[in-house]
Amino acid sequence: DALANQIAAGEVVERPASVVKELIENSLDAGATRIDIRIEAGGRELIDVSDDGCGMPPDQARLALERHATSKIRETDDLFRIGTLGFRGEALPSIASVSHFELATQSDGEPEGVRIRIKGGEVEAPQPAALPVGTRISVRNLFFNTPARLKFLRADRTEFGHISELVQRFAIACPEVAFRLTNEGRETLRFRAASSQDAYVERLGMVFGKDFLENCLELSGGNDAVRVMGWIGLPTLNRATSSGMHQFVNGRWVRDKVVVSAVRQAYRDLMPKDRFPLLALFIEMDPEEVDVNVHPAKAEVRFRHQQSVYAVIRGALLEGLERMGA
Ligand code: ADP
Ligand code: MG
Repeated sequence: DALANQIAAGEVVERPASVVKELIENSLDAGATRIDIRIEAGGRELIDVSDDGCGMPPDQARLALERHATSKIRETDDLFRIGTLGFRGEALPSIASVSHFELATQSDGEPEGVRIRIKGGEVEAPQPAALPVGTRISVRNLFFNTPARLKFLRADRTEFGHISELVQRFAIACPEVAFRLTNEGRETLRFRAASSQDAYVERLGMVFGKDFLENCLELSGGNDAVRVMGWIGLPTLNRATSSGMHQFVNGRWVRDKVVVSAVRQAYRDLMPKDRFPLLALFIEMDPEEVDVNVHPAKAEVRFRHQQSVYAVIRGALLEGLERMGA
């Protein structure tokens, strides 16, 4: 089973940012309103994520570290009806199999919390602990027992850059959750929970900067099957990379050719080939119309009716541009 975990880790855990992604998704699934991320040495030495979510009772904490013990999938059909971000029940065991891992959690209403340490798959005896309600997971010495993986990691700065981008994506998708990212003891991102009516707009101001709010176009459109809403920066804010383009399908950040090419097509005249807009685009559709299970770690999706998705996104952009008089 240790081997099965390491093999799964090869799929799920490509680099430190993949660990951070799984941990943040778990925190969000647990209803956290505050997520705190600490990184050292690009995540190789430390990834520490703590939240104020519902926590886990001690029994459940032990189960969470067993592969597939918590899988929410009963039938293949369920793959198309996933409400929570996590569903395979293999992230934690996989991460724990390639690191020095510690889980500390306290569930509301339990007399005490629990701390469980795992070293390269060896589970140590759970220790009772007095903790605030929520969960904290510390991952140290990632890939210590898989030298091939370790060798493929880039410079700390590059790995941290991936993590920082990832945190910004989650921050855009979840404006009511407060996020804090600390690198080598220095706070690099801090987004307070958005509290206004326009939580998304408020959060975009924090992530993209105040300029964005005065220089963006609101987008909306759709039909019975697909709805889109979002904000796109005016060409003056275009960037040299696509790192400011964020598209979400049913709340999940995705990298998808259909979405990106619809945006680029509609925006073409305003956007030379080597420039990319700032964008936050939210696409909502029946979960049965989209397969998010193409690959466990890559953020790819497959639409059942991709022509129609393309048309809706393009339509919303063209309509927005027309309104602006471009
Ligand atoms: P999945 O998210 O696919 O269910 P994971 O391995 O990521 O699988 O997590 C296993 C389980 O552990 C989750 O289903 C959840 O019940 C519990 N869990 C993990 N992280 C947290 C957290 N931060 N707060 C509360 N429960 C958590
Ligand atoms: Mg998960």
